[in-house]
This record gives sequence, C-alpha cells and structure tokens, in this order.
Amino acid sequence: MNNDMNSDLELFTRLAKEVLSQEKENPVTKNLSPNNLLNKLDIQLEKNGIDEKQLASKLKEILIATPKTSSRLFFNQLFGGRHSKAVLGDLLSIILNNTMATYKVAGPQAAIEKEIINKVASIIEYESDFGGTFPTGGSMSNFMSLIMARDKKEPKIRKEGVNTKLTLYTSENAHYSISKNTAFSGIGKENIRYIKSNLKGEMSVGDLKNQIQKDILQGFTPFYINATSGTTVLGAFDSIDKIAEVSKKYNIWLHVDGSYSGTAIFSKKYKELLKGVSLSDSFCFNAHKTLGTPLSCSVLVVKNKKYLYNSFNNDASYLYQTHHDLDDFNLGKTSFECGRKNNALKFWVLWKSIGTRGISKIVEKGYDLSNFAQSYIEKNKDYKVYSHPNTLSVCFNYKNYDPVDLCTKLYETNTLMVGYGSFKKNTFVRLVVVNTNNNIRVLRQFFSILEKFAKNNSAKLKKVTCLKNKKTY
Ligand SMILES: *Cc1c(COP(=O)(O)O)cnc(C)c1O
Repeated sequence: MNNDMNSDLELFTRLAKEVLSQEKENPVTKNLSPNNLLNKLDIQLEKNGIDEKQLASKLKEILIATPKTSSRLFFNQLFGGRHSKAVLGDLLSIILNNTMATYKVAGPQAAIEKEIINKVASIIEYESDFGGTFPTGGSMSNFMSLIMARDKKEPKIRKEGVNTKLTLYTSENAHYSISKNTAFSGIGKENIRYIKSNLKGEMSVGDLKNQIQKDILQGFTPFYINATSGTTVLGAFDSIDKIAEVSKKYNIWLHVDGSYSGTAIFSKKYKELLKGVSLSDSFCFNAHKTLGTPLSCSVLVVKNKKYLYNSFNNDASYLYQTHHDLDDFNLGKTSFECGRKNNALKFWVLWKSIGTRGISKIVEKGYDLSNFAQSYIEKNKDYKVYSHPNTLSVCFNYKNYDPVDLCTKLYETNTLMVGYGSFKKNTFVRLVVVNTNNNIRVLRQFFSILEKFAKNNSAKLKKVTCLKNKKTY
C-alpha cells in the first residue's frame, strides 16, 4: 500500500468520473437497508490492510451505493447539484490544507475569506464597521449570532454565567437550530417565544410586538429576534423591515437567518424578498444550499465586528504569534473554531470565475425553475398547492395520495428522491428546486414520473380521506 499523492490523484479522477457517469445513468441510487449494508459492502475495518487494486474496487462499490445528491432526480434536501468551479476550489483547499486561524498559516487565503465578507457586506449595505466569518454551517452561524446578542445584552454572562431572564423571538417555522442553540447557550428552550405566522408562513409582526411587551412587563429581558429568509419547509420570507422597527424600538439584536434563501440578495429581481436586511445586526446564508457549492459553506456577516471579537476572541500565545498590527487577518479571533477548514476558497473560485452577475444568474434560474413548478401544480386540478410564488420549496399534494407514503415508496422503489413537510396541520410533498443544473424539461419529467408512479401503484398507495384542503378534487 503506497502513500503516493500522484497515484491517488489519478485514482481520484477515475473514481470521480465513475460517479459522474453513474449520476447520469442511474440518477437514483438503489437504496440499501442498514441491515443489508454490511453483507453487500466491505465496510468493516481489519487488522491488515488491502492492496491498491482491492481498495480501488471496494471504493467504487461504496461510491456507487451512496445516494447521489447532485443528480437531476434529487429533490430531497435544501442542497443539490454542484457547480464545477466551486468543486475545483474545494479540491484545492484540501490539497492546501491551511487552517484559517492565523495569517501566518493561511496567507492569501485569509484575504480571500475577507474579500467575500467585504462584498457581501457591501451588497447588504452594512457600513464600514462590519465583520464576518465562515462558520461550519447555518446552524453554527445562527449560534454565533445568538451568543453575540447574549453577550451584548448582558456582558457579565461571559464570566458569571446566565443569571438574567433572557427571552428570544422567532417564528414557529424557524429552523430547529434556534432551539438547539438556545439550549447550548444556557438560556434554556423555555425562553424561546415562538411567534405565530400567517398562512404564507411569515412571522406575525403584531404578535411579536405584543409578546415582547408582555415579557417586559413580566420582568424578562428580550435580547434576540431571529427573522428567517426562506423558512425550511415553505421557503417563506419574514418581513425584515417591519421586524427591524420592533427590534430597534426595544433595542434587541436582529439576526436574519438566510441559510436557505438569503442568496436572493445577489439578484436585483429577488432581493426585495430581504427588504430591510441592512437594518439587521447579523445575517447569514449558505452557499452550499442554493449556489451549487459543496458542503459546507456558510457566510456570517455582522454589522459591527466588535461583537465578534467580544464573544469569540480569546488570548492564545501558542496560536497568535505574528501580524499583531494587522490583527484583522488573524481570522481565528473572530471565529468559533480553532483549526478551521478553508470553506471560503470554493465560493471564491466560483464567484471569481462567473462574477457577481453569474451568481445572480444562478439565483434567478432557481426562482425561474421553482416558479415553473409552482405554476404547473397551480394549473393542474389534480394537485393541491401549499406554497406561494417565489419560493424554492414547491409544496403540494397529488390527488388524494398520502404524501408520507408516496415519498417513502418513491424512495423504496428507487424512483425519485423527494421528501415531505408539514405546515399548520397539513402535510405535503416538498419539491426542493435548488439544483440549477436542472431545467424545465427535468421538472416536467419529475411530475410525469410521480404521476405515472401514482397511477401504476394506486392500489398499494395509502390515501388520505380528508386532506384539509379548500379545493376539492
Ligand atoms: C438549512 C437551514 C439551517 C441550517 O444550516 P446547516 O448548514 O444545515 O447547519 C438554518 N436555517 C435555515 C432556515 C435552514 O434552512
């Protein structure tokens, strides 16, 4: 067994090409139950190693058996598809293997990360004091914003722990990381106020205001509002500008969780969806969800970088040894992690190669495709629609088929990868349209596969007797 980079790069190219051709020929991987996995694939680790040829063939078997998240028929998650330039950047970052903590070790890579932060801050019109970082994902971006808000409101907490009755506000449709993060932060899940949303899934600003006033009267200290730009199920956008009036009035940190659809800021046509984002204290988006950038690539920008330093800087003489006069380039002082993977380069290579106009085109293509799918189901009386225009999550039920059973059987028969979601007591199929390598023809194919499958398996599929629908079939 060699440890030889050149021959392994060749092996990589061969295996990667195999994955790409499989993706075209068999866009849905044959599913394997965890019970059969160990019989079919050689996953077990042994005392002795194996030779090069065996390794190559075993790797190939495992790759072929792995679900294909970049194929045209993958609609199951909020990411999917890949841009080759972003993949190129990620592969290079692996070969370089820097940590982003210090300028001494990251060199120009630190400037690459800063350049993305600078450009994003300028797009959302944050003024000169802004800062930012690349956390491990949207959940971590949200966590960091929560901690900054907490430490700003109650500076003693960093030393003494949480002794104040702090409360935070988010819509009932927020991502589950808000709940987990609140537990991690020591604030406690009981102090999250879930604000009701309207029928489109947008947080009710009137309810938000009432709840804050009520909490203040009862001796709580409101410190954080999370507005979501692209809720995880419906892809709804909270009204940031109206929420910002409330956050300003009560001096509460406003975070915009754009993990899913915050990339709309790049499009002239769709940036209205985030109207008021310049009034927020922090904002994040995931390039790995809608921009074809490999997992993970989350960008967090903060209106005033002093809060990043305040919560995340810690002295460490074993780490920070140079460039004290240019501390801005020692990125570890504003990040959560110590050793931190370079997640900026892949997004930078993409952005550099296609320009801001190219990024904008990717975003707009996503909305064009999802608007096509949305209008397809709106026009067809066999479908009941739950989503609204300008969402990347197209939510529907088909005839009276139970969406949970339908999605599960589509998966079990290796037909389509699509999932379901729920909103206000309704459950529905959630078609996620984020793979912009796709086109309208593929979406038509999606619907025709689904319709044919339902027809051919009608006897086996569960029906819902009473879908809580306004439209009748
Ligand atoms: C996906 C998502 C997150 C979490 O992002 P990860 O990178 O998966 O941690 C947070 N908020 C929203 C609205 C999301 O859709």
